[in-house]
Amino acid sequence: MPLTPPVIEDESVLARYPFLPQSRDYIRAQLSDNGITVEGLIEEPWMEDIRRRGSLRLVESVVHSEGVDSATTVDISSDVGRMTEALSFLHAMLVVCASFEDRLLNRWVEGEASRADQLFGIDSPNFDTIARTYLSDIRSEAMPGTTEIVYHVPMVDFLELCPKITGKYWRLVNRPVEAGWVRMDPASGETSQQRTARLLKERVRQSLTTECADRMAKMDDAFAGLFADPVDRILGLLSERVTAEMPMSAAVREDWPPCFESAVAELAQGINVNHTGRVFLAAMSRAMGHTPELTASFFENAPDYNAETTSYQVAHIYERQYTPHGCSALKTGARCPVSHGDDRLCDQEWMTHPLKYLRAKQRRRYQDESLAQAADESAERTEGASEASDKADSS
Ligand code: SF4
Repeated sequence: MPLTPPVIEDESVLARYPFLPQSRDYIRAQLSDNGITVEGLIEEPWMEDIRRRGSLRLVESVVHSEGVDSATTVDISSDVGRMTEALSFLHAMLVVCASFEDRLLNRWVEGEASRADQLFGIDSPNFDTIARTYLSDIRSEAMPGTTEIVYHVPMVDFLELCPKITGKYWRLVNRPVEAGWVRMDPASGETSQQRTARLLKERVRQSLTTECADRMAKMDDAFAGLFADPVDRILGLLSERVTAEMPMSAAVREDWPPCFESAVAELAQGINVNHTGRVFLAAMSRAMGHTPELTASFFENAPDYNAETTSYQVAHIYERQYTPHGCSALKTGARCPVSHGDDRLCDQEWMTHPLKYLRAKQRRRYQDESLAQAADESAERTEGASEASDKADSS
């Protein structure tokens, strides 16, 4: 991608495509000019429309495999409409990043990239500028005898992007190439612009994934905790939608909050856990992505265990989508096992819900794993360089 993208001054374009690199300053200006903070984005009543639109974009990316609906319902000819479109995108991206859930990230990125693909394919007035944002260059010419335009893209861009797209059209041997330019002929009922937009989709996907990874690396516990409610809602939905495709990966045990760990451990030892603890355990287990069968198995050693009753009660909690108790309710119900100083995370002022604890642990693990991976890659590079230098010395 070009390091300096072409300038876009039309605010409607920046709002319609808030993922463009050029839109970052526009979104920042929307926040500062309107005196909006991140807390305001989450809590202010007048921003409800923005949150609703952001949630809709998120839900569409989770529910529709073909991506976010490109037929926007927001009128971006007005200042308010443009602000809603731009900030709803930001809200959705922050929720996705605060979830630290790769599956949600991938679905959302795919949804936004597919939406971009559809819109780019029909946006003739802005297509050239958008293409120059994502490709090193682009050329167009009128198709002889028609009013249609055919686009040519540099071979280096095509070669990098085409392996990610299936179909014979996308193999270089099937594309006319002239002096390093690949001709993007119309095909399969799509115009040349729509075919080229498919290539741009891949760059949108890469650029969104990189931006989210940067944000996640910088996000601290307190900031991520601000988004706990919308994160839980969307993960609950995702969990339901993906069960049929692939079971949601449950949280690893080291991430479990002490209140959940102690309820599971006490039941496993045959210790009677009170009503608050049992309802919390089942609701929390659901929110963590466990299957009803796994949740029911936590109760097997309870002193009063009855398989039928347990399955019925667990199913009821899953059907009604019970929200797990927060920290203060657990403390009141004698189900918070920690005292001040036992667990630094539980001592934090913002720690008001065990799901925040879980997300904070997942975030730390994600960041640790990213750091370890970066260290491994750096070690491999150093090793490769020293091997090359050894070879050079010995020859
Ligand atoms: S402070 Fe909250 S998260 Fe920590 S153990 Fe107690 S109830 Fe659970």
